[in-house]
Amino acid sequence: MFDSLSDRLGGVFAALRGRGALNEADVRAAMREVRIALLEADVALPVVRSFVDSVTEKAVGQNVLRSITPGQQVVKIVNDALVDMLGSDTADLELDVTPPAIIMMVGLQGSGKTTTTAKIAKRLTEKDRKKVLMASLDVNRPAAQEQLAVLGSQINVATLPVVAGQQPVEIARRALNAARLQGYDVLMLDTAGRLHVDQALMDEMRAVSDVSSPAETLLVVDALTGQDAVNVAKSFTDQVSLTGVILTRMDGDARGGAALSMRAVTGKPIKFVGTGEKLDGLELFHPSRVAGRILGMGDVVSLVERAAESIQVEDAEAMAAKMAKGQFDLNDLRQQLAQMQKMGGLGALAGMIPGMKKAQAAMASGAVSDKMLIHMDAMIGSMTAKERAKPELLQAKRKIRIAKGSGTTVQDVNKLLKMHQEMATAMKKLKKMGGMKALMGMMG
Ligand code: GDP
Repeated sequence: MFDSLSDRLGGVFAALRGRGALNEADVRAAMREVRIALLEADVALPVVRSFVDSVTEKAVGQNVLRSITPGQQVVKIVNDALVDMLGSDTADLELDVTPPAIIMMVGLQGSGKTTTTAKIAKRLTEKDRKKVLMASLDVNRPAAQEQLAVLGSQINVATLPVVAGQQPVEIARRALNAARLQGYDVLMLDTAGRLHVDQALMDEMRAVSDVSSPAETLLVVDALTGQDAVNVAKSFTDQVSLTGVILTRMDGDARGGAALSMRAVTGKPIKFVGTGEKLDGLELFHPSRVAGRILGMGDVVSLVERAAESIQVEDAEAMAAKMAKGQFDLNDLRQQLAQMQKMGGLGALAGMIPGMKKAQAAMASGAVSDKMLIHMDAMIGSMTAKERAKPELLQAKRKIRIAKGSGTTVQDVNKLLKMHQEMATAMKKLKKMGGMKALMGMMG
């Protein structure tokens, strides 16, 4: 469902990440594109505004622009802001009350309220082993009560028997009594829908809420209706105290605006999304996964997270200065190894940063494993300061001593020295291309 938004943002960030250095104007230009992409995805204007403002403010900060990987950092900032906008955490049902816990379902006609009632009942029965009773309070639509009974029989969940002529509040009372007497854990009240938000609907909802004191009041809205879904949610929020929102038809080709604006506009979490007509088409809403899907850059985000402050501009600049003098000794190698380990080891790095692969071909060709990283660190640790600074001192005798000291073999020590040699050569070549900055630029 977020396909076109994802495509557009992907384009913006590919352009940003392709560059080694960024300035404020680059970031502002990219943010203008982000703004258009969000508006086209039907995200509410005030939400777009505050999103773009907050991301811009963080992204033009000195730390980002001066970092070695500004493009990636900006992607990370956008990702975090998306997660924030979507509601940080998953929000499951909170039914921790004296049973029966009441779940009141509200929403407009056709939003998928009755179907979603059955979906939740199925989930509670099968996953949480709860004893659930469903009751339809919809006396306006002739077949509504029967529809719920049919769904109930499909999933083996009890429904309250229909008594002709009863009004919603009476039905709610009867359902509550039945649930208490028969020891149900959860009672689901499927209230009547309307075509539009109107006062009679709201009054009825409040009356039902008063007699049943629901633990959850869930609003069901159709994601395909975009901005309208958000407006409907806003009107309901003003009238009853909702505990969450469920967006249906997320399997359709909605542009995503409803999902993205809901939290900011209503202050309520999206608890579930409906992903199909079948009764198992219900999923908990995961803000971080959705943000990841929208950006399609999960790898970049997790890499930046791990690298976080582990690579400092100052370190990189000091390294570049040494390289400029043609120095890259074993101390530098050791520092690099430590950094790799901090970032999750070689396995995590491999593949994430194609540009780095070349510079580390030496390591890759030696099929270096994470265990070997630890060995290498031990070997370098067994050397004297002089040896580290001047690897050419390391002749046979010294190699034997180092192998013994680090619990490795002379072959291992040779491998380490060969790798260092190759890296030093690679770095010298890189220096000609622009040094460390160029190397890190390739990380995009
Ligand atoms: P109500 O009037 O709000 O109770 O709506 P219904 O539960 O009767 O649903 C209206 C239609 O939407 C039915 O045909 C449902 O099968 C369909 N529907 C509900 N939820 C979803 C969903 O998440 N995805 C899809 N594709 N269809 C849904």
